[in-house]
Amino acid sequence: MLGLTEVAPRVWVVDVDQFGRPGQGAVYVLGGDRAALVESGTSLARDRILAGLDALGIPRGAVAWIFVTHVHLDHAGGAGALLPHLPNATVVAHERGAKHLVDPGRLVASVAAATGDRFPLYGTAVPVPEDRVAIAADGERFDLGRFVIRAVDAPGHAPHHLCFFEEQNRLLFTGDAAGLYLTGHLFPATVPPSFDLDASLATLNRLADLQPKALLYTHFGSASPDLLARYAHLLSAWVERVARLLPAHPDEAALIRAVLAAFVGEGWPAGDHAREDLAMSVRGAVAYLRRREGTA
Ligand SMILES: [Zn+2]
Repeated sequence: MLGLTEVAPRVWVVDVDQFGRPGQGAVYVLGGDRAALVESGTSLARDRILAGLDALGIPRGAVAWIFVTHVHLDHAGGAGALLPHLPNATVVAHERGAKHLVDPGRLVASVAAATGDRFPLYGTAVPVPEDRVAIAADGERFDLGRFVIRAVDAPGHAPHHLCFFEEQNRLLFTGDAAGLYLTGHLFPATVPPSFDLDASLATLNRLADLQPKALLYTHFGSASPDLLARYAHLLSAWVERVARLLPAHPDEAALIRAVLAAFVGEGWPAGDHAREDLAMSVRGAVAYLRRREGTA
């Protein structure tokens, strides 16, 4: 069954069944004479994306751009695997991320270290040829004919994060800058190595200034713009909680257990999969706190 839903006129979400589960990972398709993707998913998403384009009647040669919010593998890892099938597409990325698309070795090694057993679920990163990457500056506009997409610098989740703003319908593709929104719940996306609270909060303010009508989450789907403010509160509370529990739990595994126990105690859902994500976000918050203290 092809998970393909129109979220706005001529804008579709392809559910790429990330980590073998529906409703976790999105790739967006914008239709028109010049078509575009927002995100590529992992390399394991490739066939679903191509089948989605075929089902929509969008010729593969019509795809002009693949906008990736950042180079983490669940967002951009599959770009290199898609390019041979999309002969006219250029990958659009942040200037600090582009080199990792061309030479993904270091990135892949860090994901392998961070994800352990789950690593095979991230697919393989095929290098993107340098002449098929375009660097987007903050405010740069990409004219698709039917749509105009504006790149918005959005550091915080990672320093190389962009959001993409579709100007006519005021749709904001948030990547991970506004957290994860899964089954109606917001989750922190404060992953290692580079999460930065102050940068995230400043980014959330800038995104709110765009006055989007809808947020289009990579994880997952369309959501109310109110979530920008809600996420700012959640982020501050989350980092504060990790900071509070850290001194009494110098052992990482014990800290993660304590944070998750507090989280679940407040009625948050934390199934096995959410636990993995949250554990990673605890590690990223700790890395941020240590950086802030200047002890790491
Ligand atoms: Zn992600």
